[in-house]
Parts: sequence; C-alpha cells; structure tokens
Amino acid sequence: MNVIYPLAVPKGRRLCCEVCEAPAKRVCTACTVTYYCGPVHQRADWGSIHEKICQLLIPLRTAMPFYNSEEERQHGLQQLQQRQKHLIEFCYTVAQKYLFEGKHEDAVPAALHSLRFRMNVHGLNSVELVPAYLLLAEASLGLGRIVQAEEYLSQAQWTVLKSTDCSNATYSLLHRNLGLLYMAKENFEEARYHLANDVSEIWHKYLNDHYQVLSQARVQQIDLLGKQFVNDTGLADEAQEAEAIRILTSILSIREPTSDKAPRKTVLVLKTLAMLYYLMMDSLKAHEYAARALSLAQEHLSVEEQNVIQELLTLITTEEEQPITS
Ligand SMILES: [Zn+2]
Ligand SMILES: [Zn+2]
Repeated sequence: MNVIYPLAVPKGRRLCCEVCEAPAKRVCTACTVTYYCGPVHQRADWGSIHEKICQLLIPLRTAMPFYNSEEERQHGLQQLQQRQKHLIEFCYTVAQKYLFEGKHEDAVPAALHSLRFRMNVHGLNSVELVPAYLLLAEASLGLGRIVQAEEYLSQAQWTVLKSTDCSNATYSLLHRNLGLLYMAKENFEEARYHLANDVSEIWHKYLNDHYQVLSQARVQQIDLLGKQFVNDTGLADEAQEAEAIRILTSILSIREPTSDKAPRKTVLVLKTLAMLYYLMMDSLKAHEYAARALSLAQEHLSVEEQNVIQELLTLITTEEEQPITS
C-alpha cells in the first residue's frame, strides 16, 4: 500500500521582503519565489547575492512533491538539507569576499542569507549561526550602524557562551569584532581587552602546537630528503589565514606602543606572526617578524626566552638558504 504524505510546508514562501521582511510588493520574475518590498531592496539583493542563487532557490521554495514512500520522503528531505548547506557556505563566502574588499553594503544581503539557511538547517541556538552573526556585525560596523552591530554581537556572544564547541577562528573573530565595536564606541579599555588579551594567546597556543610538530618534520626532511613542503598552517583555508593575519597585525599595532612597559606581550605577537608565516611558507615575512621579536627579546627578556626566538629564526634562515627542491 502506498502511503501518501501530506504536502510539506513550502519553505520560505513568505510574502515578505527578502531583505527587510516588510510586506512584499514585488516578485523576482526569474525565479518567482523571491519577494521584495520595492525596487531598492530588489536591486540590493540582486547585486549582492540573488543573481548568483536565483535559480538555486526554486527547489527550496516550491512545495515538495507527494512521495510514495517514507524512504522517498527521507531522500527528498536529505536533498533539501544538502542544498541548504551548500547555500550556507556559498553565501558566506560571497559575503566574506565583499567584506575583504570593503564593500560592506553588498555583504549584508549575502550574510543574511547565510544566517537564514543556517537557522533552517541547524536551529536557532546552534553555534553554526555565529559566523553569520559576526559577518553581519562586521558589515554593520563598516556601515557605522553601531546599535545593529551590537545586537548581532550579543547574539553571537550569547551563542558562544552556551556552546562548548567553538573553533579558534570563530572565537578570534568574535573578539576582533567586539574590539572593533568598543573602538567605535570609544571605549578603548574594553577594545584593548578584546583585541589583545585572550586572542593573541589563543593564536599563539594554536600555532605553537602546530609549529612544534611541523618544524621537527621539516628539519628532518631538509637533512634527509630535501623534500618540498607545502603551506600547512592547519587552518581550514586562505580566508582563515587572512583572518589570523588581520587579527594578529591589529593586536601588534595596539601592543607596539607599549613595548617598553610590556615587551613580553609584543614579543609573543611577533613570534606568533613569524610562526604563522613560516607555516604558510612565506620565509621572507617569517624572517622579518622573527628578527623583530629577537631584537626586542634581546633588549628586555631573559636569555632563555631569547633562545626560543633564536631557534625559530635559525630554522627560518636555514630554509631560506637551502631553497627546498622536490
Ligand atoms: Zn525590503
Ligand atoms: Zn530570483
């Protein structure tokens, strides 16, 4: 006997504006499943993300067909999930690209889409929502919308507080955005805290663990095999590496003026940047930061502490002098 299941609720077939959720007055004629309050938001959405995903939204926003079996229905649901997961990543990447280019306005619709698909797939309290909140906060800050940025950030902070599985990158991103928020509010004490204290230590610990393992391997292989190494920071992708560089250099700019009072903290950031570039196979930059760390350490720190930096610098120099060939 074939069991017929009732029609699934059409996903996203809300008759409200895609951008601001006001009552809709227009529809995108290309997909006929996306609504807008007027031409301004339609154009904004099209330019940001809709042009790229217009056709992909059709299967998500039309009623699911009748299924002949539970198996078929499960398969349909799975496919829907896959499509939404793909859109989460795609919209996120697009929004992130706009932010890197300083196009804050364009980033908003794409980031909102990533957030909504995240809510559909993971629920309203998942830590998976945090990266999207942070993108929206950063875009809002870029647009000078402080109150809105604060709302997104408190959502993100709350979600992170409740969760136990938040990645380094997300944690770092949260603190950088909180730092930027407090800068905008001219609360420099708080800004310094978020931009510096926790975050540089998190990155240092993370990269140091990674560096310890890899540098051993690299030293041995220089001696034995002359093998070619590839970029390996353990970070997921170039965007995460760019994020690490951004946060560390902004911490450095806060630390450096106070180097005389707290040199150890500046040395830590310089050393972390040196390790990051070393792992990214950029020996020129790695050398530069390691040399700066060493000269500051020689001025202010113990011989033992100097030796750790000297070791790093020696390793970087060795690889510079013996370009590794495959
Ligand atoms: Zn609107
Ligand atoms: Zn469309």
